[in-house]
Amino acid sequence: MIDQLKELQINFNDRIKNSSSRESVEELKKEFMGKNSPLNAILQQLRNVDAQTRQEAGKLANEIKNQILGEINALQDKFDQEDLKSQLSSEKMDVSLPGLEMSFGSKHPLNLVIEELSEIFSELGFEMVDGTEFEEDEYNFQRLNLPEGHPARDMQDTFYVNEKEVLRTHCTNMSSRVLSELALLSGDVKQHGSVSFGNVYRRDVDDATHSHQFMQIDAFLIGPKISFANLKWILQYLCKRLFGDNVNIRMRPSYFPFTEPSAEVDLSCFKCCGSGCKLCKNSGWIEILGSGMFNENVLKLNGINPQKNTALAFGVGVERIAMLKYGISNIRDFYENDIRFLNQFHFFGN
Ligand SMILES: [Zn+2]
Repeated sequence: MIDQLKELQINFNDRIKNSSSRESVEELKKEFMGKNSPLNAILQQLRNVDAQTRQEAGKLANEIKNQILGEINALQDKFDQEDLKSQLSSEKMDVSLPGLEMSFGSKHPLNLVIEELSEIFSELGFEMVDGTEFEEDEYNFQRLNLPEGHPARDMQDTFYVNEKEVLRTHCTNMSSRVLSELALLSGDVKQHGSVSFGNVYRRDVDDATHSHQFMQIDAFLIGPKISFANLKWILQYLCKRLFGDNVNIRMRPSYFPFTEPSAEVDLSCFKCCGSGCKLCKNSGWIEILGSGMFNENVLKLNGINPQKNTALAFGVGVERIAMLKYGISNIRDFYENDIRFLNQFHFFGN
């Protein structure tokens, strides 16, 4: 038995000398220390031998076991150290390398237009009001002189949520809400300007210039002495601020159910200065917004006395302004959030 152990030790010493990889050491550990190893078999036989042999062989077997474990652990530690070293050297930071380029966000073109318009209206003394997109039929239609049966209320144009509520078809819903509040506050309205912006919804077929959801800015100015001349001045001022001092406006008679008189407003073409181009379809003019004086009925329906007050009103499509200002031809570009499209607006106020 002693001889068997010595032979096993010699065998192990030979084998470990040639173990140069982590795998071969693992293999050696399994072979010499595993459940079916020769050392284990010898230890099993100890109980069958005489006491003296058991003592000597037991002692030697323990020495050999400790030697094997010690040498295997030492080799495994060595491999761990080597791995760590090579990992550290491969991940070494080179501080002389150029840094990674950071990408910065930019404001959305629709927000740029809203910010610009908000600034202009705030300078003119208008109060900014925020309202709901989920609106009662009463404020979206009835109080704006759009009684039941009016063509603009047709199911073709409006998203009805239920019989009494709609997704607002214009931001003018906020005009009727503000007018009603003013009427409650006082019988005699002092001059008051109000502007609101946000999403509006129409049952439209989406194409390059139409979307079922778009943004509007809607404004009105009410007071005892507000006239069509005030409307013309404000619109002229607004267009010059947006498109430059050289532009002019022209007002054409039109029809809107909530204004009387009503006017469609055209902008002189800022690209060709009137000589005719693709943008203005060779007419020299670009249609830009709808406007008018609030119909007497609208004032009455919201509790305002039309004998004492008049109000100018107009609504602007935010996408329309952004498309003209930034030369965008497809309305869908605003909603697809393609980073290549949005990155072009770094230049504008970002
Ligand atoms: Zn033109």
